[in-house]
Amino acid sequence: MAQEKMITRRNALKLGVGTAVLGTSGVTQAQDKAAKTPFNVDQIYIPIAGSNQQFPVRRIYCIGRNYAAHAREMGSDPTREPPFFFQKPTDAIQLVPPNQVINHPYPTLTKNYHYEVELVAALNKGGKNIPVDKALEHIFGYALGLDMTRRDLQRFMGDQKKPWEIGKSFDYSAPIGPIFTVAKIGHFTKGNIELSVNGVVKQKADLSQMIWSVAEQIAKLSEANELFPGDIIYSGTPENVGPVVKGDVIRCSIDKLPDLVVKII
Ligand code: MN
Repeated sequence: MAQEKMITRRNALKLGVGTAVLGTSGVTQAQDKAAKTPFNVDQIYIPIAGSNQQFPVRRIYCIGRNYAAHAREMGSDPTREPPFFFQKPTDAIQLVPPNQVINHPYPTLTKNYHYEVELVAALNKGGKNIPVDKALEHIFGYALGLDMTRRDLQRFMGDQKKPWEIGKSFDYSAPIGPIFTVAKIGHFTKGNIELSVNGVVKQKADLSQMIWSVAEQIAKLSEANELFPGDIIYSGTPENVGPVVKGDVIRCSIDKLPDLVVKII
């Protein structure tokens, strides 16, 4: 289909994503870097909706099992467990512009590839031990994201008490839409979150059903690590995660945000 495209960090430059940003000295950051490093490393950016500016991604945090019914389907008791987090590399970002169907490659090594629709919070302020009642002040904006998962590998490694990173952290495992600023769209403490595959609704819940709110996630994360501008947080998925195969079309929705759509190829 003509409108289908694949946007990756490798061709992002052609689309004007990740172009040079003016540094404080008046020269571009790219020029600064060229002077100080033996080679260039791409900075990953996410488009900011309604702006020609880009959000530079520093780290991708994800919370696990943050909706009670999803925690139960993953085999844990949501009432007794503190939150836990993992990371994906920034290279996992796959940019998904709104109102387009973007091709998403079925990854290697798995036979059970799962979707997880999530609200993503993007920070423009960092800190340590951030109190819950100050946490939302650290959020620049929000996006719709998918925490794509090699479920078979995640489970296999977990069963062996090994790190399940290979199930979560891999190329293209973090499709994400543009970031909508808090100034424009406000905060997301409630509202419908939904995912369908080939037009059939699979996941449907309300953001208010999170066990740990986004503010609480920021507070908890900042106890473990100093947070920084550019950090983004995938805030967890509701119940009824499941597999996709090549040819499937995943549509994600959160109230107030444009849908995110990918086709598995
Ligand atoms: Mn997740």
